[in-house]
Amino acid sequence: MPMKQRWFTLLAISLVGVVMVIGILGVLPDARAWDEEDIQYFDPLDTTPITTRVTISPSVSTIHFDMVGALAIAAGFSITDAAVIQAYSQATDAGNLPASNPVYTFDADPANYPVPPAIAEVTATPYCPSPGTTADFVTMGNYDVAKDQMECPGCFTSRFGPYGVMFHFPHASSAELYATRDWAYGRTPALTGTVIYAYSSTAQSFYQAAVNIYNSSDCFVSRTATIDTGSIQPGSLQALGIYLHSLGDNHSHGDCIAAADADNKLFAAHVHPEGPTDPLTPCRWLAHEFEFGSSNNDTDRTFNGIVAVYDALLTYAAETGRNIYRSIPLTAEGNHIYDAIYSFVHTTGAASASDGPMNRRILADDLRTWALQTRTQNPAYWPQVFLPAIASDTG
Ligand SMILES: [Zn+2]
Repeated sequence: MPMKQRWFTLLAISLVGVVMVIGILGVLPDARAWDEEDIQYFDPLDTTPITTRVTISPSVSTIHFDMVGALAIAAGFSITDAAVIQAYSQATDAGNLPASNPVYTFDADPANYPVPPAIAEVTATPYCPSPGTTADFVTMGNYDVAKDQMECPGCFTSRFGPYGVMFHFPHASSAELYATRDWAYGRTPALTGTVIYAYSSTAQSFYQAAVNIYNSSDCFVSRTATIDTGSIQPGSLQALGIYLHSLGDNHSHGDCIAAADADNKLFAAHVHPEGPTDPLTPCRWLAHEFEFGSSNNDTDRTFNGIVAVYDALLTYAAETGRNIYRSIPLTAEGNHIYDAIYSFVHTTGAASASDGPMNRRILADDLRTWALQTRTQNPAYWPQVFLPAIASDTG
């Protein structure tokens, strides 16, 4: 069986087991928040009704994709700019949108991916206690090993590429999330970030190692690299989309990142917890299944993450002036945007039935429609350039 199939078979068997246990307990969650959900990509410029709109592979997150698109409109971006922001927010995971004949994709040069140091060149640290007895087999951070799982050779944001931790499990630090933020806002001319390499004497493949990277690998090394972002420029809408994704993931994986830090890990990653007292339980592979629903630690993280994403859209708009309408504040217009996010996460959008993702897609589309109407009807949100004409019209 090819490596890829073996990995999915292993994952499928363990998922089936967990789902059966949950099913027996009578609480079968299907919400996946910041992870891909049971709903597919659509062309964000398509104007047909949302419930009958043509969808196509890959699966998307109703937050990274649908909600970000609605919030970009509320922040005042043009319909075409909002589509780019929304697409790259999702493409940070998917790599290509749609999966076949992609319109949105990445074009970094794989020749510029950083090369892991040979284990003989690695010095001992608490994260790599005995490099002298560790095999020179890289399980993480090596493009050559990971490339058949990266969505495309230029997909530098891939979860399976050298910068997987940087874009999907970032610390809120200047070497990780804030580096992407400053690049996205156009404050810095290049993106310099963290690469994590793992070496293993036991794992025979990247996929075998990734099930629980901390157990399978015995040496972890951190390096800094200037990231080749291909044609994506600092301060661009594509860069903003990537940052919004990482910001969301920083919240989504927030408890996992904190648990990994407290457990003296170099980085955070999903694991299979070893019993109920495993300190890395917040990093369990199924953590994303519990991110919608009535208020609790997991669902509040989802809500706060979406609010943070909106805040980032407003900051980018204020710093770049790229928005064509004035941004609608979170709590303006009778608290509309805040309440819509609340409903999306905690009430109407949180149905555990199989129509949950579609409910959330409809809620996001309703918010988008409301924002389009509000910004055209209320002069408070009209572009600055219109205001003198309006003032003279109304006396
Ligand atoms: Zn991600």
